[in-house]
Amino acid sequence: MFNIILFGAPGSGKGTQAKLLADKYNLHHVSTGDLLRSEVTTGSQLGLYIKSIIDQGNLVSDQLIFRVLEEYIIRHKDNTEGFIFDGYPRRECQCAALSGILSEWGGDVNLVLLLEVPEEIIIKRLLNRANLEMRVDDNIETIKHRLDIYVETTMPAIEFYRKWHELRLDTYGKKNGEFHAIDNSGDDIFETFNAICKVIDSIKS
Ligand code: AMP
Repeated sequence: MFNIILFGAPGSGKGTQAKLLADKYNLHHVSTGDLLRSEVTTGSQLGLYIKSIIDQGNLVSDQLIFRVLEEYIIRHKDNTEGFIFDGYPRRECQCAALSGILSEWGGDVNLVLLLEVPEEIIIKRLLNRANLEMRVDDNIETIKHRLDIYVETTMPAIEFYRKWHELRLDTYGKKNGEFHAIDNSGDDIFETFNAICKVIDSIKS
């Protein structure tokens, strides 16, 4: 199994890159945002509750997202060469939860990628997406709130992996669990995709 975590602010291009990578490396793309939105479309009581949280730009509880994620992994683990996580972890405590699920099947986090995009480009992209996809959470106020949550809550999770990688490198001198930050501020999605592929190919070779 080869498991990748793709970090980046909302609008940094995680979904686009995750789809391309999943295709090329036979991985399963897990977007926790998509999993939650699909519950919303069922119109269930839980779906209505999730919708109110997403629309405000807040994060759902760790318990709820963990249950959704675990169920998804169990359902797909036997028919994939690995997972690419887009939108999970988003809080530091979710890092341990993810490692816990993966280790149950002898899996690990093999690569952590961070897509870096300056805030003004992010805001432009998300406002553009609001017109194309009609996402209620892509309006300027909610975008700013989601970016604040990203800085306050998700960045510590990213730092956790950066340190975890340094520790592993010091202890084992191994490549597994590498952390790479990749610039995704340009308009050419394939330039970023090729840079990521280079990293993955060097780890797998
Ligand atoms: P996304 O499509 O990744 O931007 O996610 C949309 C929304 O789903 C987020 O703003 C959160 O409300 C919720 N969400 C997605 N992933 C998580 C997570 N790991 N933890 C908590 N909430 C999440």
